[in-house]
Amino acid sequence: MFLSSLKNGEKNSMKKKVAFHTLGCKLNFSETATIASQMEAADFEKVPFESKADVYVINTCSVTENADKRFKEIVKKTQKINEKAFVAAVGCYAQLKPEALAEVDGVDLVLGATEKFNLTAYLNDLTKQEVGRVHACEIEEADFYVGGYAIGERTRAFLKVQDGCDYKCTYCTIPLARGISRSDTLENVLKNAQEIASKGIKEIVLTGVNIGDYGKGEFGNKKHQHTFFDLVQSLEEVPGISRLRISSIEPNLLKNETIELVSKSDVFVPHFHIPLQSGSDKVLKKMKRRYLTSLYRDRIETIQNKMPHACIGVDVIVGFPGETEQDFLETYEFLNELAVSYLHVFTYSERDRTEAVNMSEVVPLAVRNKRSKMLRGLSVKLRRAFYESQIDTKRTVLFEGENKKGYIHGFTENYVKVKTPWDPVLVNTVAEVRLRDIDQDGLVRFDYVKNN
Ligand code: SF4
Repeated sequence: MFLSSLKNGEKNSMKKKVAFHTLGCKLNFSETATIASQMEAADFEKVPFESKADVYVINTCSVTENADKRFKEIVKKTQKINEKAFVAAVGCYAQLKPEALAEVDGVDLVLGATEKFNLTAYLNDLTKQEVGRVHACEIEEADFYVGGYAIGERTRAFLKVQDGCDYKCTYCTIPLARGISRSDTLENVLKNAQEIASKGIKEIVLTGVNIGDYGKGEFGNKKHQHTFFDLVQSLEEVPGISRLRISSIEPNLLKNETIELVSKSDVFVPHFHIPLQSGSDKVLKKMKRRYLTSLYRDRIETIQNKMPHACIGVDVIVGFPGETEQDFLETYEFLNELAVSYLHVFTYSERDRTEAVNMSEVVPLAVRNKRSKMLRGLSVKLRRAFYESQIDTKRTVLFEGENKKGYIHGFTENYVKVKTPWDPVLVNTVAEVRLRDIDQDGLVRFDYVKNN
């Protein structure tokens, strides 16, 4: 290859430059990392998004509020930096609305779920297009699995273990964007985890769409060869990993044996993120969720009994069609009573091709926003109460990699956010601390017990 005879600097200057922008979840970040390594293997040089590139890849999300507006803003930004740059869109929104994305000024290529990991094959001709070329498919064809992981901030990695979902929640477009539930082989997950540990990364976050369904489709069929419990048990044995964090898991798939394992584990951290969506059984049934509040309460109480210091985060949707003031207050009271640690509050918004979009008893936007505000207020109160309950306890902190206005931040194993004056030596290190107090920004200050 002609490039081989040149010095590295000259070689790089000859390479085409590619930059990435990722919207949405940890899974999207892990997939951007996979696409990026494919591009580097094809002799592209990866550059930061703010700098001039020949190709910009935008990994889209269909859950983000105003996903289309966000997308247009990002495309505009690329054209401002380099109007000749070739712009490619991949990800969930690209699968759901390929034609609409292709119409956006500046977009040259839109790849659906089956083609996103084949991007390099479409980059031989980087000529700007009037209207973007679309290579999309019926989601049923996206039944294969591509594994990978992303390393964020040098401290933690998002390890993809599962993709797609077989559930039919009436408000959700993810199964339409990502296809059926399928999993990486256990062997490959363990290999990736080992690789991450060998890079000195201290924390691995398990990510997917419905990770509690891990094992389904591992070998291309609908059967469960392994279960989520098999996965966590095996990962616990991988040497060199300091922390393993379960990103988000459906309540009906969080088994007692998994809670038990985490409560005794030196690597799995006591932090659970468990979508609830509503505290009203009537609304849960309309959402076609696979549990009622009694099961949810049981999961939370089981965790709190086994690990009183565990952090429990909750996803909740407000303003779902048919949600009355009474239903909403039931949700508020249910969460307040359970004393969970923080909430991610989503304001219901209609999504094409979902069952809920055709439902009657639509909740006015102003009411949705009022309810969302109330739950965000509750989340602040719950997080404060959780942090206060941790004051004067001994914890371990993993320090992040960024200097934030002269401070370095970090998270304890049970997801308490701490801060201390910036010191580059601390980056990606773990320290034992005693939590002291909460500062005016709601972050926790500490005293060192022992520095590992
Ligand atoms: S479990 Fe429900 S909300 Fe979650 S991805 Fe599957 S269909 Fe969507």
